Amino acid sequence: MQNMNVYSDKKHCSGCSGCYNICPKECIEMQQDEEGFLYPRIDEKKCIKCNLCSKVCPYNNDNEDNDIEKPKAFACIHKDIEVVKKSTSGGAFTAIAESICKEEYVIFGAALNENVRVVHKYIADIKDIDLFRSSKYVQSDISKSLKDVKTFLDKGKKVIFTGTPCQIAGIKSFLRKDYENLITIDLVCHGVPSPLVFEKYKEYMEKIHNSRIKHVNFRDKTKKWDEHNMTIKFENGAIYTKRGVDDAFEVGFYKHLYHRPSCHQCPFSRIPRVGDFTLGDLWGIDDIIPQINDKKGISLLLFNTKKSEAFVKEIKERAKLIEINLNDAVANNKNLIKCTEESPNRIEFMNDMQIMKYSQLKEKYLKPRPLSFRIVSKVLNKKTKVKIKKMLGMKK
Ligand SMILES: Cc1cc2nc3c(=O)[nH]c(=O)nc-3n(C[C@H](O)[C@H](O)[C@H](O)COP(=O)(O)OP(=O)(O)OC[C@H]3O[C@@H](n4cnc5c(N)ncnc54)[C@H](O)[C@@H]3O)c2cc1C
Repeated sequence: MQNMNVYSDKKHCSGCSGCYNICPKECIEMQQDEEGFLYPRIDEKKCIKCNLCSKVCPYNNDNEDNDIEKPKAFACIHKDIEVVKKSTSGGAFTAIAESICKEEYVIFGAALNENVRVVHKYIADIKDIDLFRSSKYVQSDISKSLKDVKTFLDKGKKVIFTGTPCQIAGIKSFLRKDYENLITIDLVCHGVPSPLVFEKYKEYMEKIHNSRIKHVNFRDKTKKWDEHNMTIKFENGAIYTKRGVDDAFEVGFYKHLYHRPSCHQCPFSRIPRVGDFTLGDLWGIDDIIPQINDKKGISLLLFNTKKSEAFVKEIKERAKLIEINLNDAVANNKNLIKCTEESPNRIEFMNDMQIMKYSQLKEKYLKPRPLSFRIVSKVLNKKTKVKIKKMLGMKK
C-alpha cells in the first residue's frame, strides 16, 4: 500500500478530520505521528483523485466574514452557582446550550471517554451536558463526528457544535454550505497538547498511585478559578490535586512544549472569529469590572453573528450578562487575536520523548518554576514584564 499525505506541511494541518470524513472511498485514515497527533494518510491504491479532501481542507478555504462587523463582548456568569462550579469559567457554554435547547437540539462537544481519552461526542438530551463541561487540555479526536453532524442537519435536526477554532473552521469547510439549523461555538484557544504526552502522563500517575485513573479535571475550581488546578480521581479512591503551576502536565502546557505544530501558526486565532459564539475565561476581570469578581469563575462571551445575537434575551434569563469593551477583553486574552508562540525547547522535548521515561522528562522539562520566580512574576505588572523580556532579547 502506498500512502500519500493530504497536507504539504504539518503546520498546515490542524487534524480537523474534514478530509477523513468527506472521502467517498473511505481511503483516508487518521494516523498518529510520533508526537501523538493525528494526520490524514491517503491509501493511493483506493484513491479516485476526486480531490474532495483538498477542497474541504480549511487551509484551502477562506472562511467568509461574519455578518456583523464587530462582535459584542460580555462578561457572563450563569445564575445557577452549581453550574458555575462545574464549568471552566462562568458557565457560558451551559447558558447558551440551555437557551438554544428549548427546541430539540443535538449538541457536539469534547468529552472524556471510558479510557480517559479526549474525544468528540454528541448528546441528544441537555441533561447529559456535564459530559462536555470543563476544558480538557488535550486535542480531542473528532473521528466521524463531522459526518454525523451533516446527517443530523440534512434531516432538519438542529445542531450545536462546540470546539477549538480550527475544529469549527473544519466543520464549516466540510459542510460547504450554510445551514440555518447549525450553531457553532468556538473557544479562545491557547493550543492543543499532544494526546500521546497525556497518555504518558496518565501512565506515570497510575504507576505512582498504583491504580487506574477514573477521571481527570484539568480546571478544578474547588479551591480557586484562576489557579488551574489539576485533579485526578483513581479507581482505588485516591485523589491527586495540584495547582497548575505545580503539576507536570500543566507546566508543559503553559510552557507550550507539546502543542500541535499547527497551533503555532493558527490562522483561526483572530477576530472575526470562526464560530457564532466565542467562549473564554474573562482574564483581567479586576482591571475591567472588579465589582463582579466573586472569584468563582467568569466567562468571556462574544456574539459574532446575527444568529448568535438572536439568543441574547434567552441567555440573559439564565446568566448575568454585562457588556464590556472588546479591546479590554483582547488586551487580557491575546489568544483571541493571535496564536501561542512555540517553545524553543519543543523539538528537543519531542525528541527526548521518544527515548526518555516520563519521570526523566518531568525532571528535565516539567519542574515547577522556583517560588522566588513566581513571587516576582506576581508582583511585576504586565508592561514591566514585556520590557524585561525585550531587554533580555526574549521578545521582539
Ligand atoms: C485546549 C484549550 C485551550 C484553551 N485556551 C484558552 C485560553 O487561552 N484563553 C481562554 O480564555 N480560554 C481558553 N480556553 C477556553 C476556556 O478554558 C473555557 O472552555 C471557556 O472559558 C468556557 O468556559 P465555560 O465555563 O463556558 O465552559 P464549560 O462548561 O467548562 O465547557 C467547556 C466547553 O469546551 C469544550 N471543550 C472542552 N475541552 C475541549 C477540547 N479539548 N477541544 C475542544 N473543545 C473542548 C466542551 O465541548 C465545552 O463546550 C481553552 C480551552 C481549551 C479546551
